[in-house]
Amino acid sequence: MQTGDFLDKEIETLDLEALQSLQLERLKTTVRKASTSPFYAKRFRELGLRPEDIQSLSDVEHLPFTTKDDLRGEAYPYGFLTVPGENLVRLHASSGTTGRPTVIFHTKKDIRSWAHLVARCMYMAGVRKDDVFQNMMGYGLFTGGLGFHYGAELLETLIIPAGPGSSKRQIRLMQDFGTTVIHIIPSYALYLLKVMAELGINPRDDLSLRVAFLGAEPHTEGVRRRIEEAYGVDAFNSYGLSEMNGPGVALECPYKNGLHIWEDSYLVEIIDPVTLKPVPDGTEGELVLTSLNRDAMCLLRYRTKDITRLLPGRCPCGRTHRRIDRITGRTDDMIILKGVNIFPLQVEMVLMSIPEVGNNYQIVLETHNGIDTMRVQVEVDSEHFSEDIRYLEKLQKKIASELRGEILITPQVDLVEPNSLPRSDGKAIRVVDKRTVTVG
Ligand code: ADP
Ligand code: ZN
Repeated sequence: MQTGDFLDKEIETLDLEALQSLQLERLKTTVRKASTSPFYAKRFRELGLRPEDIQSLSDVEHLPFTTKDDLRGEAYPYGFLTVPGENLVRLHASSGTTGRPTVIFHTKKDIRSWAHLVARCMYMAGVRKDDVFQNMMGYGLFTGGLGFHYGAELLETLIIPAGPGSSKRQIRLMQDFGTTVIHIIPSYALYLLKVMAELGINPRDDLSLRVAFLGAEPHTEGVRRRIEEAYGVDAFNSYGLSEMNGPGVALECPYKNGLHIWEDSYLVEIIDPVTLKPVPDGTEGELVLTSLNRDAMCLLRYRTKDITRLLPGRCPCGRTHRRIDRITGRTDDMIILKGVNIFPLQVEMVLMSIPEVGNNYQIVLETHNGIDTMRVQVEVDSEHFSEDIRYLEKLQKKIASELRGEILITPQVDLVEPNSLPRSDGKAIRVVDKRTVTVG
């Protein structure tokens, strides 16, 4: 295990008091800068708030929240800028998973500090100069590709900027150049296994992979385990969002007991998404982040809509930055069916624990005779697929009953052939909502 080995030892192991004092100093600067942007200048005026009012970390609660709608509303695209336009060197956009993409601008310094955070993450997972890093995330407006690219470049790792898709080419690149580290969307990693199987390649034996960064979409521990076993890699959960740069916000250390969130660069709050009040430590809620080290756009109390909790205790790796739990979903993703709240990842958790279940599934919500129903389409694992109707019926019943145990309603389960469900090169679409009545 790569413990005791840090890229930024001093910052990563700061004691609580020193870390908080750094945060406060950066928070004050951030608030001062933010107040010069048209968006926050107006908000501050409306709230009668002055930057000097922020004198302690707990004063953060006086600051206004910022939402995705704020970023794509009236202030779009330049209303959050705190620097003259000539200082901007790049813009990125979110994927647009839940509507119009948001746009984030960067100065040269922003790009540098973002790259540094990603490098810190990669180093923490054990990536070094002699690795060969194949980046299978989208290059371009999406932050996954360029974000990791610049981080890896700081570590002077050999980078293969493959981008997503073209599966056969990806495999060829891995073979030809002895790729040791990959950055990949987990649903794509599962799909790629099928292509490898068709080519007669067993990634464990035939490739040199060692580390995988899994990011960009919610996934369960079960998916991580499947990827680790099939590829023979150490897989790290990587969390980030465009509004906070992109990847590099939080990553697991080798202990994999939550994701260290870089508190020198982000101020963390977990709130109840309904009351907007902080929840006690250890309780699940919506992650709210304030950027502490950005120039072009300083976002205050950004509501990520991602559900997680802060984990108690210190990590044995020696890093003092707190850990968030694996994201269990977005508040937007929550399905309300027959009065029951369900997160798609609860379905994934059950499915991935059943060996006969293959690597892809989709949830379809429909209305029949005025009643909302859930259908779960499940690919059967190729080794377990059979034409035997009795076997399939039994498996169907088993899956439906295990799902009921977790989500409290019995969905209809459709078993489909391995690798027959639609897939994308980007984030997987897990839920198709065809309901005509969408409430309750
Ligand atoms: P969009 O919000 O349009 O999807 P981004 O491309 O910025 O835009 O994606 C950021 C979002 O992706 C996060 O807010 C989160 O919902 C999801 N995400 C990213 N990494 C992870 C991860 N490791 N686990 C769960 N969700 C993740
Ligand atoms: Zn740790």
